[in-house]
Amino acid sequence: MSLEEYSAKRDFSKTKEPAGGEETAQDGSLIFVCQEHYASSHHFDFRLQCGDLLISWAIPKGPSSDPTVKRLAVRTEDHPLAYASFEGEIPQGEYGAGRVTIWDAGTYRMEDFPTIEEGLARGTFRFTLYGQRMKGSWKLVRMKEKNWLLIKRRDEHSLAEEGEKAKRRQ
Ligand code: MN
Repeated sequence: MSLEEYSAKRDFSKTKEPAGGEETAQDGSLIFVCQEHYASSHHFDFRLQCGDLLISWAIPKGPSSDPTVKRLAVRTEDHPLAYASFEGEIPQGEYGAGRVTIWDAGTYRMEDFPTIEEGLARGTFRFTLYGQRMKGSWKLVRMKEKNWLLIKRRDEHSLAEEGEKAKRRQ
């Protein structure tokens, strides 16, 4: 894990995206962010903190809170931690050109492994998100090479569960 690929793809004299390397960890909590990216192909970038880096996946259809839905999440290059607060326009002609907005952000904790490094190595791990839109337990499962699946786990924050509760109330 490093910023080598991230830096190679970008010209920091042209894009306002952070170059990284200046960030220091603030406290013990780990952050996550999900950025909506209006690039040539609209997608969501889901990122989980690992030290001074953000482990990143591009999710073409975005996250779903329905535990029966599996969303393709393509692992992309690690980003600097400072990228978590980035919103703005990546100039035309530059890598990832288009508008980036923060769709959700918050903190997370690993569930079944102490560190995300271990989860990545195992190819499947669970984690809890404390965001505004993304809440409760989630799972990432590696399928093949860079292709993972992001799946909501069944809990009080999953959509189907909400639907069932609504039905019971009727
Ligand atoms: Mn993107």
